[in-house]
Amino acid sequence: MAYLTDVVRHLLQRPARVVVTMHRDPDADAMGSSLAWAAFLKKLGHTVIVISPTEIPENLKWMTGSADVLNFEDRKGGRAESIQAINSAEWISCLDFSSIGRLKDLAPFITRSKAPVLVIDHHLDPEPFATFLVSDVTAAATAQIIYRCIREWDESLMDTEIAECLYAGIMTDTGSFRHNNTTREVHLLVADLMQYQIEVDKVHRLIFDNSPLSRLHLLGHSLSTIRVLPEYRTSFMTLTHKTLEDFQSNTGDTDGIVNYGLQIEGVVMTALFIERNNEVKISFRSVADFSVRELAHAHFEGGGHKNASGGRSNLSLSATIEKFLGILPHYQEQLNAVKK
Ligand code: 5GP
Ligand code: MN
Repeated sequence: MAYLTDVVRHLLQRPARVVVTMHRDPDADAMGSSLAWAAFLKKLGHTVIVISPTEIPENLKWMTGSADVLNFEDRKGGRAESIQAINSAEWISCLDFSSIGRLKDLAPFITRSKAPVLVIDHHLDPEPFATFLVSDVTAAATAQIIYRCIREWDESLMDTEIAECLYAGIMTDTGSFRHNNTTREVHLLVADLMQYQIEVDKVHRLIFDNSPLSRLHLLGHSLSTIRVLPEYRTSFMTLTHKTLEDFQSNTGDTDGIVNYGLQIEGVVMTALFIERNNEVKISFRSVADFSVRELAHAHFEGGGHKNASGGRSNLSLSATIEKFLGILPHYQEQLNAVKK
C-alpha cells in the first residue's frame, strides 16, 4: 500500500515554507528521519526549517544537516527563530511521535498554528493532531517510512547523506537489528539503502562508540543501582538528580541504559527512573508478550511500543518507585506467564 496519498502528493508538489519537527530528547530515528525528510523536501524546492523541542544529543551531531537544527529551548535565538518559522510555515511535518505532549513546550505553538500538519510516524494510537497522517505501526522506525516515501516519489533523489540518516534511525530503533521489529522488510530496505555507499560500521561507531568517559561512569553507576524483584521477574534502576549532576550527564547520555536491566536471567520487564527537571522520566522495556506500553499508558501518562515505552510522573522519585511497586501485583500473573 502506498504511503503517499493524493493529498500528501499535492502538499509535496508545490514548493512551500515547511517546518519539520520531532519528539523531545530526539533519538537517531527522530533526528535521522527528520533530516532525511528535510533534505528530500529541499530537493523538491521547499524551504525547510528543522526544529527540535530540546537539545540534540552530541552523538547525533555528525548527521548531515544537524548543525542547522533549531533547539526550541535555546533562549539565545533558537526559540525565537523557531516561533518565527512556525508562524510563517505553510505546512508542518511532525516525525516519530504520536502523542503531542512529546513536543514538550513546543506543543502549543504547533497546535495553535493554522498550517496543516503532516504526521509521519510508527507509534501506536496517534492522537488527533494530524491534518494528514502517514502512520504505519508495523514499521520498525519512522526512517523506514521516510525511505519508502522517497522511493514512492522518486528514488533518484536519494544520496549517501540521506541514506546514512535513515540507516541510523532503523539501526537504533531495531536495537541494531535484534528486536522483534526487525522484519524481512527491514533487512530488504536496509540492503537497498546500502547501495548508497553508507559505511555501516562508521554509523554504528559514531552513535554507540563515541561517548564521553562520564557517560560510561554513569552507566557503571546505573548498573550498581539495579534491584531485582524475582517474584515479578522485574528489575529497575534509579538515577537521581544529584547523580546526573555528579556525572555531568547530557541529553542522550541515559539512552540505552535501561536495556541492561533485561540482561538478567529470568527478567522480562525492566524500568529506569530518572529524576530530571522536577519530574521523573521513566523508561520501560519488556520481552515477548508483556506490554509495557499498556502499563506506561495506564499508570504513567506514557506510551510507545509494546516492548519499549516511556512515561513520567510528577511524584517524588521515591513515591514514583513506590507507585510502581504497588502496581506490580496486578501484573504478576502476566509477568510470570511470559516465555523469555
Ligand atoms: P525511551 O524509553 O527510549 O525514552 O522511549 C521508549 C519508547 O517509548 C520510544 O518509542 C518513545 O517513542 C516512547 N516514549 C517515551 N516516552 C514517552 C512518553 O512520555 N509518552 C509516549 N506516548 N511515548 C513515550
Ligand atoms: Mn522511532
